[in-house]
Order: sequence, then structure tokens, then C-alpha cells
Amino acid sequence: MTRFQSEHDIFRDSVRQFIEKEVLPVADTWEANGYIPRDMWKKMGELGFLGINLPSEYGGTEADFWYSVAFLEEVGRSGYGGFSASVAVQEYMAIAHLARAGSHELKQKFLAPAIAGEQIGALAISEPNIGSDVANLETSAVLEGDFYRLNGSKMFITNGGHADFVTVAARTGGKGAEGVSLLIVESQSEGFKANPLQKLGWHCSDTAELVFEDVLVPKSHLIGKENHGFYYIMESFQLERLVGAILAIGGMDRCLEMTRDYIASRKAFNRPIGSFQAIRHRFVDLLTEFEAARQLTYLACDQYAKGEMAVQACSMAKLYATELSNKVADVCLQLHGGYGYMNEYPISRFYRDSRVGTIAGGTSEIMREILAKTCLDQVRYDSKYQVGSDEQTADGPGVEEILLSLPQRFRSEKANGFAGVVQFHIQGSGGGEFTAHIQNSACSVEPGLKGEADCHLRTDAETYCAMELGQLAPEAAFMSGKVKVDNIPVLMQFTRLFSRFPT
Ligand SMILES: Cc1cc2nc3c(=O)[nH]c(=O)nc-3n(C[C@H](O)[C@H](O)[C@H](O)COP(=O)(O)OP(=O)(O)OC[C@H]3O[C@@H](n4cnc5c(N)ncnc54)[C@H](O)[C@@H]3O)c2cc1C
Repeated sequence: MTRFQSEHDIFRDSVRQFIEKEVLPVADTWEANGYIPRDMWKKMGELGFLGINLPSEYGGTEADFWYSVAFLEEVGRSGYGGFSASVAVQEYMAIAHLARAGSHELKQKFLAPAIAGEQIGALAISEPNIGSDVANLETSAVLEGDFYRLNGSKMFITNGGHADFVTVAARTGGKGAEGVSLLIVESQSEGFKANPLQKLGWHCSDTAELVFEDVLVPKSHLIGKENHGFYYIMESFQLERLVGAILAIGGMDRCLEMTRDYIASRKAFNRPIGSFQAIRHRFVDLLTEFEAARQLTYLACDQYAKGEMAVQACSMAKLYATELSNKVADVCLQLHGGYGYMNEYPISRFYRDSRVGTIAGGTSEIMREILAKTCLDQVRYDSKYQVGSDEQTADGPGVEEILLSLPQRFRSEKANGFAGVVQFHIQGSGGGEFTAHIQNSACSVEPGLKGEADCHLRTDAETYCAMELGQLAPEAAFMSGKVKVDNIPVLMQFTRLFSRFPT
């Protein structure tokens, strides 16, 4: 299964040649210095490598997603995980939110120079006390006139020490997911400090702790809508995870190639070690798993390229490819014997660099948590989160129309003896109260709160419609507190009984 056409292959070749000529000869110096020099960003910008899927209005190429897949595989194949990480953060994370939800002025100011390689960007979500649990981040941004006053700190920020601007997730509202916004913060701002961090691998990508002490951020640097940052982050997680998987695929491809050459040339007991069955079998096992990871990653790429939410496929691809990368690194180092442990052998760098793949961009444990929800709890992510976008449900069907259509959408064959009463408390303009009954494999709905209920669902009209129309993932709505339910098992059984509202 492949979706690459000949033009993608030509592009891939040009990226490979660029890396062989411009990156590999000097990357060890970058590793020693701990960062990628500015002229390299400019070179990549000039070649159009930093805005592959981004709008031409700001200097991007607007190419299809498979160009990005080819690009990232080649970047991963460089064998320098730090280079891969820095480039991926610049193009697919630091400016992703800006490209999607930023104002034209913000895009002109930051997106265009980032695509040109003239400015370096970073994305700062993780904090010293908060990593996986993004909704509870603590950095605060308090609006004072035309500025937000930013205080707090961010941890493990890739490109953080050399970035010109950072997309910062900060709390502008109350507790939880609903109070998070994204702001562009310039690193030259007074009160902004970057403390470099030393790490096991990814040496040529600079990683920093960022500290904000009363940094004044112009109000115009808010990305999209205030307090919608968590949803922007949730949506971009799919791309972030996919990028992690693709880089792992590129890296493993190179690692396996190097190891195949090594076991063919290295001799023991007067034979190439690659002729010993123990080694041959171990190696082809890796090739088999690698191919499975690659095809799973391409499946996720395919769904993502078609505009699907692809939560399950992206999480599976990230989980499987990065976990396998650790295994490939370990076994391939073993097959290199003592030389594999020496720094001058690229396999030792691959071993160091691949280790963080199962941590950064969402840990393997968090991927498994997401998969458990989608595979076991039937949580659906039908389409992209669109909370925060202006084209919500303004002209679409209302709460009453959607709820009263439940009997027509009822799938009696799924009821399987289930009986229950769910009451809907939908607030805000266009809301109302309704009671839905499931009994004897039949469904009825009536306005008002009638009788005893097994489950109460409370939300506002906008959120309810967005969920029913597939514009907001129920999971996101629950996590953000926009929807409150007092009996989740009953609601899960209930929702499975209906086909989607026709749009
Ligand atoms: C080199 C590097 C570069 C990075 N770059 C960036 C960057 O550019 N921007 C940015 O914002 N962040 C960045 N990160 C941060 C990275 O995304 C976080 O490290 C990651 O999300 C995990 O958060 P944490 O380290 O706080 O771990 P924690 O969230 O504290 O987790 C610790 C352990 O507990 C497990 N755990 C947590 N919750 C659960 C649960 N519910 N169920 C089961 N297990 C759980 C985790 O899987 C992990 O094993 C980077 C990290 C590294 C190491």
C-alpha cells in the first residue's frame, strides 16, 4: 500500500540529496554545539521545505500531505534525531495553530518568516508540573488593557533556546480545559528567559526551560479565540503524533539499512555474521515488524490526508512505530557488537535519539489510554474539532429538531434488551429540556423532564448541536467540562442506539 506518485519520489530524491550534501557533513558540529545554525533554516526555507502544506499567500507550497510524508521520512533517515525534531517542530507544531486559526496580521508577522526560514519557532505546552495532563496547565496570562501579562514556565521546549517566537499555551480563563488560550510570545520580550537543558539524545536540537516573568504580550498575539486553546491543541495532536510516527519510520529505515550492511561485512568465525541463522532470523523479524509499522503509519497518513480526524490510526501509528523504533535501535546496536557502543558509529546515536520517541508528543501510555477509549469504550471522533471556528452550527438544525429525530434514527436491532430514560438539560439560546425513553426496543422523545431518569446530560445548545453534527468530538466536550453526565455507562449504551443526524 503506497500513495506516493512519481512526483513525490522526485521530491523525496531532492530532500535526500539536500540532506546528504548540506546536513550530514556538518551535523556532528551541530550535535556538539547543541543547535542548528540559522543559515540552515534559511536554506531549507528557500527550497520550500518549511511550508510544504501551508498556504502560498504566506510563502507555503500548498502541496498534498504525501509530500510531507516523503519529506519527514527523509529527515528521519538523516539519522540525526535532533535535526528531525527541530525541523518537525518548526514546520508542523510551532506554526500549526497559527496557520489554522491565526489572524492575517499574525500570519504575516510570524508564519511567513517561519516558512522562509528567517525566524525560528517553538511550541510551549509542557510545564515543570504538567505534561500529559494539558488541561491543567498553570502558566497564566491575565488581560490588562491591550496586553496579556504572562507568568509561569514551560519545560522541555524544542527550539526553545533559539526561537524568535513561541506559541505558548497559557491560562486566560478558569480552571480546566476551558480556560486555555494560545499566544504568540516573542523571545526578545522583557521578562522572557530560556534556560538550556542537557539531555540523553537529540543533541543538535536545542531544548530549553522557558520562564516568563511579567512578560507583556500584545492582545493581538492571541491565536484564534480566547479560551479555545485546548481545542486547537487537541486537534493538532493528530498531526503531531503522525509526524512522530513518520520520523520513526524514516529513522528505522536508515538504521536497518546500516545494520544490513554491517552484518554483511563484519566477519566472525571466518564468516559474515549475517550468515548465522540466529542473526538472519532476528533481522528479518525486525524487517517484518518494520513493514507492519510503515503500513500502519501510511494508513493513518491516508486518513489524515483525506481530512479525517484519524485519532485511532494516528495514536496506533505513533504508539507502534516509536515503540518499535526503540526495539530496532536496541537489536541493531546488539548486532553491531562493541562498535555499536562507540559514539563514532551512527547506531549509538540512533539508540540515544530514538528513546524519546515514546515520550515526546504524547507518551505511549497516553496513546494506549486514547486507544482504550476508542477501541473499548466506543468513543467516536467523527470529524475535526471545530469549536472556535466561526462556521459552527449557526444555520444548522437546532436542539429540538435533533432530539425529536431520535425515534427516526433509532436502531432497534442494537437495543438488545436495553431500557433506560435519559433527560437532556440543554441550556442557552435554542436549548430546552427533553426526556428520551428506550423501552421494548422502541424509542420515544418528549419535551420536558418527565419521570425518573437513569441519566442526566447537561450542556449548552451550541455544544450539543456540534456533537450531534460530528463537529465536536464528545470526548473533547467531556474532558473540557462542556458536557456533564451523571451516568456515563448508560449514556454510552444509549448513544450507540442511534444513527447520525443527516447533514
Ligand atoms: C526532548 C524533549 C522534547 C520535547 N519538546 C517539547 C516541546 O517542544 N513542546 C512541549 O510542549 N513539550 C515538549 N516535550 C514534553 C513532552 O511532550 C512531555 O515530556 C510528555 O508529554 C510527557 O509529559 P511529562 O514529561 O510531564 O510526563 P508526565 O505527564 O509526568 O508522565 C510521567 C509518566 O506517567 C505516565 N502517565 C501520565 N498520565 C498517565 C495516565 N493517565 N495513564 C497512564 N500513564 C500515565 C506517562 O506516560 C509517563 O510515563 C518534550 C519532551 C522531551 C523529552
